[in-house]
Amino acid sequence: MSTRFVERQLLAEADQRALSYFDSLAARPVFPTREAIAALSILDQPFAEHGEPASTVLRRLDEIASPATVSSNGARYFGFVIGATLPAAAAAERMVLAWDQCASSFDNSPAADAIERIAGRWVLEALGLPTSSAVGFGTSATACTLACLSAARRSLLERKGWDFDGDGLIGSPEIRVVVSASVHITVKKALRVLGFGMNRLIIAPVDEHGRIDPLQLPPLDDMCILCLQAGEVNTGEFDPFCALIPKAKAAGAWVHVDGAFGLWARASSSAQLAEGAELADSWTTDGHKWLNTPYDGAMAICRDANALAAAMNSDAAYAQASKDAQKNLTLEFSRRARGLPIWAALASLGRAGLCQMIDQHIRQASDVAERLRAAGYQVLNRVVLNQVLVRADNDQQTLAIRLAAQASGQVWFGPTIWQGRPAFRLSISSWRTTDADIELLADLLIALKQEITG
Ligand SMILES: *Cc1c(COP(=O)(O)O)cnc(C)c1O
Repeated sequence: MSTRFVERQLLAEADQRALSYFDSLAARPVFPTREAIAALSILDQPFAEHGEPASTVLRRLDEIASPATVSSNGARYFGFVIGATLPAAAAAERMVLAWDQCASSFDNSPAADAIERIAGRWVLEALGLPTSSAVGFGTSATACTLACLSAARRSLLERKGWDFDGDGLIGSPEIRVVVSASVHITVKKALRVLGFGMNRLIIAPVDEHGRIDPLQLPPLDDMCILCLQAGEVNTGEFDPFCALIPKAKAAGAWVHVDGAFGLWARASSSAQLAEGAELADSWTTDGHKWLNTPYDGAMAICRDANALAAAMNSDAAYAQASKDAQKNLTLEFSRRARGLPIWAALASLGRAGLCQMIDQHIRQASDVAERLRAAGYQVLNRVVLNQVLVRADNDQQTLAIRLAAQASGQVWFGPTIWQGRPAFRLSISSWRTTDADIELLADLLIALKQEITG
């Protein structure tokens, strides 16, 4: 058998197995069984002297690991705003694998370079952000926030005549960073990695919905970075951009918006929730959450395209590229064409399909909230977006119901602490989630509450 034949057979078998996995999604437990997890230890072998046939490797992977996966690509996974993968995006991802492009620049891949430019333009249109912004397709909102905040720092210092690239931070004018009291942990991580000490962050107080209170916004000046949020992880709420951003800009501050999932509200009928976000200087958002594209796909968006391009530049004598080549807008040098499944998702949805998907999740969240409320649950947030924050009669009951729901294998969602007490958090973000899935979730939670309260 020729090597080429063997390779074709193997990839066809992988596709076959992937399809069987899809077919099993509806029936498999949403979180794997204890037995399936225990069986993973079979894979824990010493690194062998001699390899084995690729088909054996594939079979072992599927037979042992598939049963231990979480069905986050299914319809009834309600944890962490994970989203599934849209068919067009999954199909495009297969092409990305076949092409195996190093999508750094035009020279590495004209196709990837062209398509990621188009994807960037569409993302800006979909989100209603300034069309001349730079869009870097990075691995995660975490990495993209790091890229945006390093552009912010470099720009603020440059305005003061400080050469950050040459002289670094030692002796530089001080930059103060203001974050919301409910800032996402990954924004803090990006700041920490960049050398902004956690003890020096200035915390802007939030209201009961987790939004910065404009009346309590700390004083800002032209050496400040203000980090705002579109979509608080518990409540799904938005900082009041219209009240905050013009004030910050008037003071000369740099405004960054973390919109990992919430920024997509701007593509929906609920766009008014994130009104004013377009006034910021930089934004991060994910494809792999609400847009339902595969991991790792996120976007660093910067109003001043040159600022991001300067901060992320990685040109070398042997690797020159345009300043807006992806390797000069992201942390990665060699990289997958991660904007490509994002392009495919947007191409297959269109403006109307995107709006409909986001609208549907927002409606489904309020549907489930209404049913739970009617059944005696406390819904702790206003459910403006796709997040529902729930508590039963007491902490013990809240915990018991969540564990029972997880153990049922029918659904999965995670815990949180809200205002000092346990709650659980339902996120609706999979394109596969139908109204029947939402009914099932509500029925299950209502039944469990009756069972547990006796
Ligand atoms: C998930 C999330 C992030 C981090 O995104 P990653 O892509 O996982 O790095 C940041 N902010 C918010 C609000 C999030 O929900």
